[in-house]
Amino acid sequence: MERIKMTTPLVEMDGDEMTRILWQMIKEELILPYVDLKTEYYDLGLENRNATDDQVTVDSANATRKYGVAVKCATITPNGARMKEYSLKEMWKSPNGTIRAILDGTVFRAPILVKGIVPYVSNWKKPITIARHAYGDVYKNTEIKVPGAGRAELVFTAEDGTEIRELIHDFEGAGILQGIHNTEQSISSFARACFGYAVDTKQDLWFSTKDTISKKYDHTFKDIFQEIYDAEYKKKFEELGIEYFYTLIDDAVARVIRSEGGFIWACKNYDGDVMSDMVATAYGDLSMMTSVLVSPSGAYEYEAAHGTVQRHYYKHLKGEETSTNSIATIFAWTGALRKRGELDGNEELTAFAKKLEQACVKTVEDGKMTKSLSLISSCENPVILNSLDFIRAIRETLAGLLDNH
Ligand code: NAP
Ligand code: MG
Repeated sequence: MERIKMTTPLVEMDGDEMTRILWQMIKEELILPYVDLKTEYYDLGLENRNATDDQVTVDSANATRKYGVAVKCATITPNGARMKEYSLKEMWKSPNGTIRAILDGTVFRAPILVKGIVPYVSNWKKPITIARHAYGDVYKNTEIKVPGAGRAELVFTAEDGTEIRELIHDFEGAGILQGIHNTEQSISSFARACFGYAVDTKQDLWFSTKDTISKKYDHTFKDIFQEIYDAEYKKKFEELGIEYFYTLIDDAVARVIRSEGGFIWACKNYDGDVMSDMVATAYGDLSMMTSVLVSPSGAYEYEAAHGTVQRHYYKHLKGEETSTNSIATIFAWTGALRKRGELDGNEELTAFAKKLEQACVKTVEDGKMTKSLSLISSCENPVILNSLDFIRAIRETLAGLLDNH
């Protein structure tokens, strides 16, 4: 068989531990036999981040801006234990944080639906995609533990020295205080990423905040979304027959539970943190979630939603068998190949990505799965495979699907 040609390279960001092992297996078994793969390779494994003073992470993000599509393996975010384990020069920042800051992106997460893994909410038939704003609010807050009686004020000093001053509270005793912020620029980028993704995936977009209580802060989010929608996206939405609507977060929660899924739910930073864990858990777990970072300039970075699966890696190092689910990492590859195919008008590549996704789903639906999947599947007699054999089973299914057409 002739391998599928690519015109533009993908930015390939390699990573750490068990997912780095899976990365290699996926390429060898599922991609290279079929695709004449072109990538610009960046090794974001912790050793190389340390060796390059983390420059490799910055370079990989800049390459993503240049080429438009990246695929990323899970990476270690160092902590005290990792400092020792890898003899690090510094406690390097989270690569995802660095990449997100450079691409100014919004993260979209959606479950991968498979028959036999039934969502806890029985009327959810289609995936719910959470779009989480990844800047500001409580994640960049300033806090004071108020020691005793006194006045708390909110003060803004303009560059010309003029002040805006608001009373927060006259404390009669001890208490707590918190200052949070956001910027119009970041909220606008978030809004554009959400509208763009809705158009891309032809799904409705829901957005929710608490603007009835937060009449300036949350209301500004609502207004910016509405202005950008009216000015830039309304026509496209109408052409595609999709809808944008805003509602209060408590109303949204009720509607989400009653819905059958199949839409994007845009959430402020904290709401997105909480709701994405709820949605992921209700659909199965993080090993069956896709995750893509979309920048307002139109760059895409695909990854798995889970981490490097450290516990499995240590077993692997001891020569013990592992049964790690590679589906989320495979979907990172298919997401990137499909997007590359769309951008380059390379239909063969797009079709291949689709087939590989179908092969993953069909393999599990045929009862062949990893240990972790068997724990959440209702399949009665699953065949439990080790990490490599699971990938080989997907390859067999894929070969069948490609032969049949
Ligand atoms: P994790 O790698 O997501 O794994 C936590 C546990 O979830 C595993 O021990 C395993 O449970 C289960 N699990 C996760 N993915 C699985 C898969 N594909 N197949 C089977 N089981 C899976 O999270 P972590 O152990 O908290 O973090 C490990 C490292 O990942 C950390 O250094 C962290 O910094 C990094 N991390 C990276 C990213 C990223 O790059 N996007 C995201 C999160 C965490 P059992 O052990 O019970 O089988
Ligand atoms: Mg969380």
